[in-house]
Amino acid sequence: MPRDRRLLAWSSDHVGMPLPEGHPFPVAKYGMLRELLLREGVLAAQDVARSEPAPIEWLLAAHDPAYVERAFAGRFDAAEIRRLGLPWSEGLVARARASVHGTVLAARAALEHGVAGNLAGGTHHAFRDRGEAYCLFNDHAVAIALLRREGRVRRPFVVDLDVHQGNGTAALFAGDRDVFTYSLHARHNYPLRKEAGSLDVELPDGAGDDELLGALERTLPAALDRHAPDVAFYQAGVDALHADRLGRLRATHEGLAERDRRVFAWLESRGVPVVLTAGGGYGRPLEATVEAHANVWRAARLALGRRATPPR
Ligand SMILES: [Zn+2]
Repeated sequence: MPRDRRLLAWSSDHVGMPLPEGHPFPVAKYGMLRELLLREGVLAAQDVARSEPAPIEWLLAAHDPAYVERAFAGRFDAAEIRRLGLPWSEGLVARARASVHGTVLAARAALEHGVAGNLAGGTHHAFRDRGEAYCLFNDHAVAIALLRREGRVRRPFVVDLDVHQGNGTAALFAGDRDVFTYSLHARHNYPLRKEAGSLDVELPDGAGDDELLGALERTLPAALDRHAPDVAFYQAGVDALHADRLGRLRATHEGLAERDRRVFAWLESRGVPVVLTAGGGYGRPLEATVEAHANVWRAARLALGRRATPPR
């Protein structure tokens, strides 16, 4: 593992995405998170790059051409817009493309530095030929497809700890034995019809830290050992937080921080590079969600520091 303490991150919040007044999507959290991490010094200003629109060829590595074309042109019908939960705009497409770009570049950086991430991304509800639940394109799937095409990775692993199942990602890699899709999520939460990933671990409504951490401990290390990945995409959604409007679980900040510490430690001990993506978080107040997202990056910073320290 190369030893370099720079924690590289990509952001998309400079790309405006118009939403109607009172829309539930917490678009403000991304800028709040970036500013908090810069203020604290978790990220250095020169290490945060603005994501650019991902080229269409990248999107086509994981998505159906007709779908991408309709997304770019805004030719969605009312049912598709409803399923997506976001109104179509050029800003929506630009922002989704930027988010994909950030995850691809973070993935390449993670292979060099051990840990790198996207302050957006983790849009795991996007399928090959449709979007849903705020997810237009699947950044993990695009990045995985490109890295494999470039011959940089052979056995990717998705650690999806968002409270909602990573249904799009699971479907996109169904039957692909070289990609492991792990999802720990709330059983009775969206999506009602779950896809079959490589391993799906379900939590009951109201589960707290002990149940979450216990389930993770029982399943994730063994899955990592079984698959022996050469890269991990960590979708570190924080919507399991008690303060979340959409989560149905009762995790605390301490519990989620412990979750992150363990995930980084398990990946670190196996020498697996980690690509961090944001995932969901819909807290009220929004500051609670931003704090939980920030904890993921604080854990990433510590994990990178350990990797960067030469063994005695
Ligand atoms: Zn979610």
